[in-house]
Amino acid sequence: MEEKTKIGIIICDRYRTCAGGKCLRSMRNREGAFSIYADSDVELVGYTTCNGCPGGNIEYAGDEMVKNGAQVIHLATGLLVGYPPCPYIDTFKDFLEKKYGVKVVLGTHPIPQKYLDMHTQLGTWMDPAWSPRLSATLEDEAVRNAYN
Ligand code: SF4
Repeated sequence: MEEKTKIGIIICDRYRTCAGGKCLRSMRNREGAFSIYADSDVELVGYTTCNGCPGGNIEYAGDEMVKNGAQVIHLATGLLVGYPPCPYIDTFKDFLEKKYGVKVVLGTHPIPQKYLDMHTQLGTWMDPAWSPRLSATLEDEAVRNAYN
């Protein structure tokens, strides 16, 4: 490992009591969206929630994370798998990228299998627009089961 990438993670406020277990585990294992760092070191420089709909803390968290050196901000997998998924996720990504010149990745840990099963039943992700949003975190079934 040569280069170090500084990252921030913003989670959905529905999961505000989350201690970050799945995100930190997948960051360590380079699974899910963290597979892009397979050949580099990673330093977490910020972790917070959006502070509840409609995400008022996105602006301030982004500013603080970038000031702390964040090059990439991950919008956590909870924004993708919640019931319903965050309706603002594309807006958050566009805003953070344009305002702070930072790269934004949708997702953190692999999608747990139980969420894929439920969203398949619900038809949540039928729209083709979901394919690129989910691509970093789908993984294979064995990995998804390991994150159930
Ligand atoms: S659904 Fe979106 S805006 Fe609402 S709490 Fe979750 S991340 Fe924040």
